[in-house]
Amino acid sequence: MRYLPLAFDLRERPCLLIGGGAIATRKARLLHKAGAQLIVVSLEITEELRQLVTASAGEFIQSSYRPEYLDRGDLVIAATADEAVNAAISRDAQDARLPVNAVDAPELCTFTFPAIVERGPLSIGISSGGAAPVLARRIRAQLEALLSPGTGALAELAARLRDQVKAALPETERRNFWDWVFSGPVASKVEAGNVDAGERELLDQLSAWQGSPASTGEVYLVGGGPGDPDLLTFRALRLMQQADVVLYDRLVSAQVLELVRRDAERIYVGKKKEFHSVPQDGINQLLVDLARQGKKVLRLKGGDPFIFGRGGEEIDRIAEAGIPFQVVPGITAASGCSSYAGIPLTHRDFAQSVRFITGHLKQGELRLPWQELAAPGQTLVFYMGLTGLETICRELMAHGLPAETPAALVEKGTTPEQRVVVGDLTTLPNLAISENVEAPALTIVGGVVSLHEKLRWYRDQ
Ligand code: SAH
Repeated sequence: MRYLPLAFDLRERPCLLIGGGAIATRKARLLHKAGAQLIVVSLEITEELRQLVTASAGEFIQSSYRPEYLDRGDLVIAATADEAVNAAISRDAQDARLPVNAVDAPELCTFTFPAIVERGPLSIGISSGGAAPVLARRIRAQLEALLSPGTGALAELAARLRDQVKAALPETERRNFWDWVFSGPVASKVEAGNVDAGERELLDQLSAWQGSPASTGEVYLVGGGPGDPDLLTFRALRLMQQADVVLYDRLVSAQVLELVRRDAERIYVGKKKEFHSVPQDGINQLLVDLARQGKKVLRLKGGDPFIFGRGGEEIDRIAEAGIPFQVVPGITAASGCSSYAGIPLTHRDFAQSVRFITGHLKQGELRLPWQELAAPGQTLVFYMGLTGLETICRELMAHGLPAETPAALVEKGTTPEQRVVVGDLTTLPNLAISENVEAPALTIVGGVVSLHEKLRWYRDQ
């Protein structure tokens, strides 16, 4: 370890900043966030820096650097544009045993600024000791993705209730309790943005604390997107990392599943057409049972759970059972496939609205409001429409859509195996057979399909 990370309490402490340009301003922003009082020495300063000085109840000394100013700060930052001046400041500060940082000159520094991840009172500093600042910044980006924006609110809640918890529980129990707070439903609720609900949960548990949580586990209903793992949301990824058990189905791609916590139990509940490996009732019950065992249950769905995903039915049972749950949206197939195929779903010249329609046959039949679907100026997106494709195209033409209306099939959209088959209402059903298109596939009908050749990008080559 080349540098020791220390956490400085700078609240209301005078910090001497020599220099008034853009770099000094950047440092001043950080110091101000930490509550420092800014003493700025410079001939000129930026408008923002002037405001920061005022906001921190500090002082602007309009002057060039003089050693006697060192008396004014508990730490020193040399941020002038003149290297020789910065070197002099560093030397003087070290003689005075003051911690000093000189911008962009590690050899003049006795401390450096790490890359910082900030969540309310929580701060994480990453320092590579000057060896690889870009690496430190990359690690910061990874931590940013890993830590919910709500982590700060969670830390604030803990600070607010610390004394109350201390008074209620003996020391031996406190640690268990806080462990539960930071890993269970309190954390989930606060991180999902509902601090009040988290606080209520915490206080309920506190009043009845028996050494372990009395409540059940929880369920995360998460949209895993159409296949490309890069399309997951940050929240989806975080919950995937926390789950004890995951229930997934056929549409969840192997690459997405890969990102679930390694030691989480995996249960396949997939459905294939006409073949239900676990009937829906069974899935609903399983979710409830697992949560009641105190587990964090991840129900991972392809695309978005609330778009042809039966998400509503599954959480209906969970809500009835009084089990805490949250729903995380995912990129739905229509959105993913259309982007990756270069087919915009709306376009000024072709479509002013878009419809998501189920093409799933019930007893070999498709009852849809064909008249409305055949209206001009819209894009139609059929989910589960491969088996019924012939019927779909025939009915649309019978109700007035021109036979030459462009139509496309996107097979395994957003995955490395994506294929796009383009034709029109007369040719697409035959193309599906001759090209051997397989599920999952999405059908897109409308003028926007004609843009595919022009707007396709390198993902679809
Ligand atoms: N909840 C999912 C849809 C489930 S219905 C979502 O929001 O995307 C299943 C149908 O979605 C499939 O029959 C197919 O039409 C479509 N689908 C899902 N993933 C797909 C993909 N990667 N490529 C093409 N179609 C897909």
